[in-house]
Amino acid sequence: MKLAILSRAPRSYSTQRLRAAAAQRGHAVKVLNTLRFGIDLSGDEPDLQFRGRPLSQYDAVLPRIGNSITYYGTAVVRQFEQMDVYTPNTAGGITNSRDKLRATQILSRHGVAMPATTFVQDRADVIPAIERVGGAPVVIKLLEGTQGIGVILAPSLKVAEAIIETLQSTRQNVLIQRFVKESKGRDIRALVVGDRVVAAMRRSAQGDEFRSNVHRGGSVEKVDIEPAFEAVAVRAAQIMGLKVAGVDMLESDAGPLVMEVNSSPGLEGIEAATNLDVAGAIIDYIDNQVAFPHIDVRER
Ligand code: ADP
Repeated sequence: MKLAILSRAPRSYSTQRLRAAAAQRGHAVKVLNTLRFGIDLSGDEPDLQFRGRPLSQYDAVLPRIGNSITYYGTAVVRQFEQMDVYTPNTAGGITNSRDKLRATQILSRHGVAMPATTFVQDRADVIPAIERVGGAPVVIKLLEGTQGIGVILAPSLKVAEAIIETLQSTRQNVLIQRFVKESKGRDIRALVVGDRVVAAMRRSAQGDEFRSNVHRGGSVEKVDIEPAFEAVAVRAAQIMGLKVAGVDMLESDAGPLVMEVNSSPGLEGIEAATNLDVAGAIIDYIDNQVAFPHIDVRER
């Protein structure tokens, strides 16, 4: 197949691995800078330009859309969809997962277990909201934070209220979430491809930090994922409309609680922790969907 990887970071580990995995399997693969596309809406048919010239024909596109370019990036993906080019992650799926409030609304509507979460706008509603999710200590999250930035553990009601007021005065919207204490600074990252988890790792926070993000000094180890966690991860990705996703789950007393579904999961940490060819699994899945559209791999 002819595959385009949409990425602004051609030298990043994930992009390089995906490109190499595709080339190794005999596919024609190009890494195209998402911001160099022109979306052509003047003709009869939906069209795209790249670097000012008409784009050649592709069978599939793999979007790796960074947070800072979600708006334009998803527009480019949407245009590929309208041109009937296969993409494992649709513009709608990427948009859904990007915004923590929107993602939480969609997942909760479909009965996916998550930490109790609430969202309020008016300061008068802050204290009742915190009490609704179980009181302090409570987790406060910026709606569009990543890598653990903007995720705060407030030890008391007073501190929580002060943090939320400060953030809202700078027009930052926040989620208020029950602190899942028993997860002890650990979480599970499951890499979903199609209808299965191809790799999973446990991330553990450093010292008394409660955030397990690697960017916050967290460590990772391979984990044999339990069936309940696998089922929840696959379902969460499917509900979001993503065939390639990193699903983060907390290990609570009541089982898996989904925190986040990431549409451009990094591959470096999980490939290192598991020694698995995750990039290859992603490329094989796309190849299969292009060769046998709409047919589930397991049904063949
Ligand atoms: P980001 O998208 O910035 O990584 P997350 O929502 O995934 O933000 O939170 C970062 C980390 O903080 C998680 O990986 C987890 O270790 C910890 N964490 C987040 N929410 C909770 C919670 N409700 N209870 C306990 N720990 C949490």
